Amino acid sequence: MATTELKLVFGKAPSNSQIMHISEVPSGKGCNCICPQCGSALLAKKGKIRQHHFSHDGRKDCGIENESVLHLFAKNIFFRKKVIKTPKLAINYKGHTKNISEKIVNFDSVALEVNFGKFRIDAIGRKDTNPLMVEFFYTHAVEDEKRQYLTSKNVSTLEIDISNAPLGSNINTITSYILHAAPRAWIHNSKIPEFIRKIDDEFEKKNLEESIKNANDIKLKIHIGFTKENTETLTRRVYGKFYGFNYFQRVCIEKGYSKLFNKNIHSDYFFKVGYEHWQSSLIYNMIILNGFGCKIHKEKVYRFLSQYICRDFLVHISDTALDIIREEYSRFQPPIIILNKYLEFLEENGTITQEDDYITLT
Ligand SMILES: [Zn+2]
Repeated sequence: MATTELKLVFGKAPSNSQIMHISEVPSGKGCNCICPQCGSALLAKKGKIRQHHFSHDGRKDCGIENESVLHLFAKNIFFRKKVIKTPKLAINYKGHTKNISEKIVNFDSVALEVNFGKFRIDAIGRKDTNPLMVEFFYTHAVEDEKRQYLTSKNVSTLEIDISNAPLGSNINTITSYILHAAPRAWIHNSKIPEFIRKIDDEFEKKNLEESIKNANDIKLKIHIGFTKENTETLTRRVYGKFYGFNYFQRVCIEKGYSKLFNKNIHSDYFFKVGYEHWQSSLIYNMIILNGFGCKIHKEKVYRFLSQYICRDFLVHISDTALDIIREEYSRFQPPIIILNKYLEFLEENGTITQEDDYITLT
């Protein structure tokens, strides 16, 4: 039966201000209840035919409706019984899930209408030190600002929808509905940040482990770097007898580009060849062959240069790994940084200009 079709089923006991349901008081004047709205005496009408209800004794009905008392009644029932069923919850974070099962929680104490920040909370149940806030609602769910505040304060809060409470039933049925069966959801659960922190810690630990491995792999290979044999082998393999680093270098010098060899762009950690070799190759192949005004994507320059870089260094090196490598090799830079430094140097010399991801030969 919808609550609106029901006559008044709630009265107030003047002695302790508790809200009483019609089913828990004796019939007639002996119910000893007053109207929760106007305060006049009520009669409990508990006959055999009509639905049991309260009516104003003698005076005119003030028009009170069950809906306006239901919220008060729900809080009152929680205060009296000090027990509530909490719903299950699945917390999902970064592909991990924590399941919290539903529970019957018995509290040591329950307080009603508690101020919390600038908000008022319907009820707070306490057990040991953990508080649980409870909000009952009939038509209006808890507003966003309040939700955010409760979340920011990390207090577990439950929201219970009592709008379909079976008011025409007896007190036990209504009580059981409010405390156990009515739809309920977590506004916030304090286990959520705890779980997020745990997963983040695990990720951080895993990242650190990966960075250490990454750094150690790189460190093992650092001394393989540039040797004279590497240079000669590479020249023969890539360019055959006639075109090689000596040729590139000779052309660069003839064309007056020798000032563009910069030994201060440190590269000996991972280039297979000496600085004058990769730099002359880059000037010859990217600049002299392409000619003035030519626009080239930096990615293409980097790809060209990677043939002279030991494969082991053409991997992503995390910042943490870089810090670990530099504890031992303070000048170590990833190849892409070396290339960018060299391009900056060429720009300072007026050989190229850089815009976005492109270089233009000038
Ligand atoms: Zn009244």
